[in-house]
Amino acid sequence: MAQNKPIGQLLKELGFITEEQIQVALQVQKANPKFLGEILEELDFVTSAEIAEAIAIQHGLEYIEIEQIVPSEEALKIVPKEIAISKNILPISIDNETFVVATQEVNDIMTMDYLQKLSKRNVKFVVGDKKAIARYVEIYYYQLENPIEKEIDEMIERALQNREIDIPHLVDLFLNSAIKDKATDIHITPEKSATHVFFRIDGVLNHYYSLPLRLHNQIVARIKIISELDISEQRKPQDGAFSYNFLNEEFDLRVSTLPTNHGENIVLRLLGKNASLFNLSHLGLNETNTKKVEHFFQKPYGIILIVGPTGSGKTTTLYSALRKIDSLKKNVLTIEDPIEYRFSFIKQTQLNTKAGYTFDAAIRSFMRQDPDVMLVGEIRDEATAELAVRASITGHLVLSTLHTNNAVGTIPRLEDLKIPSYLIASGLVAVIAQRLVRKLCNRCKQTTQIDMQEFQKRGITEEFLAKYPNYQLYKPVGCEHCRNTGYNGRNAIVEILEVNDSIEALITKQASSQEIFEEAKRNGMVPLKFDGYEKVLLGITTFEEIDRVVD
Ligand SMILES: [Zn+2]
Repeated sequence: MAQNKPIGQLLKELGFITEEQIQVALQVQKANPKFLGEILEELDFVTSAEIAEAIAIQHGLEYIEIEQIVPSEEALKIVPKEIAISKNILPISIDNETFVVATQEVNDIMTMDYLQKLSKRNVKFVVGDKKAIARYVEIYYYQLENPIEKEIDEMIERALQNREIDIPHLVDLFLNSAIKDKATDIHITPEKSATHVFFRIDGVLNHYYSLPLRLHNQIVARIKIISELDISEQRKPQDGAFSYNFLNEEFDLRVSTLPTNHGENIVLRLLGKNASLFNLSHLGLNETNTKKVEHFFQKPYGIILIVGPTGSGKTTTLYSALRKIDSLKKNVLTIEDPIEYRFSFIKQTQLNTKAGYTFDAAIRSFMRQDPDVMLVGEIRDEATAELAVRASITGHLVLSTLHTNNAVGTIPRLEDLKIPSYLIASGLVAVIAQRLVRKLCNRCKQTTQIDMQEFQKRGITEEFLAKYPNYQLYKPVGCEHCRNTGYNGRNAIVEILEVNDSIEALITKQASSQEIFEEAKRNGMVPLKFDGYEKVLLGITTFEEIDRVVD
């Protein structure tokens, strides 16, 4: 039988919280009698996902990320919606023997018995975050009762017959469809003969719908109205925002319009507000890299940069690491664009260029606030770069992001921003270059073989392969759990440049990027591509994915 440790103790052993955080939570509990787990969560010391993970470990059950799995229709249909909602369970899959159900209440024997009778199968509980279960139970049962895609197709059909359609409702349906499929962006793109709707999911654009072109301007007008943009202005790009409610949950969207030769192109970005994303252990870094990153963020001063193109998950890594910094003992200030999630005990501020509150202005203000740690959303100009580096050499830990492709490339980039080499050398603690690769869907991936030539072509040596004696490659297939893409969710791959004495000396004497790269490799830096290859050999992703994100 599973040992039933108090949740606080367990979370501490797993390294999710500190003793001091437990003490603070216990004090809060005196004033506000609630479960300790709940208080820890309200104080942002843990996320609900971490609690679920702890429960899974405690009971020796599988933990699943609800956001990364699509349940099968057959499984959903077994359990009535009301029961699923009241018990907060999400049916995942069913076969001849086993009915897999996600829950956080793993000791709920009554529900297990009930499900056993209902399904006439062995019921297997897997542990999921109760908040995520609550959200997706609503979404998937809604979808079961009102298939969103079907309704959209019917509306498109009516439009093709030149019949009137309810445009605001159609726009709502696009938003519902995007939320259900966990899209991060919606693109509405006019072409010569039709307008197209694409969703970006796990970093890749997917074509979803084609509509008669005559609807395009009506859809654009509708989106402009809700995001308070100028409807009559069609020749200049515009930016706006709005909030949208779906199944009692608020979603924030940012809107951007761009005039193109076929009409205005619209991109809607769905801002994530899911704090459970911010967890270092969920980024998928290997153990060595996780330890390195944790170590960097415990440093008392210096600058740590996370680099990569837009959409490479820099912010997620930054926040995951930020959560590891003890904000009870350190004064943490942030300047963000925008603030996507609020943390307790961290002083967060939002960029407001119009009001003169820029990244550099923020750093100047922070310096008068007795700071320990400063998070600067992005370094994109000389003034910000200089202030950030100066702050880092005067006893503060500065965390930021920068647009460069690889770790070593950050040094010439900072030099371009007029930072003297000796300052870079003394301020920089580490650079983490990052990309996101899609993970193969565990429910449908199939083993595959590859010849040695392919390995050689990629520079994968026998020596590298020897580190993974049981390696097995897989290929994507596609099933109903992964929207037939063969992939589900994403992992970060990284390249970590640690600035030790030898690297510091090379930066100071303005050595070439090649020299720094070679020295970093000698010090143990694994190039981005090879961190990806490790994930291919471990069967997590594919060579195609690595090729897609690393040049
Ligand atoms: Zn699949």
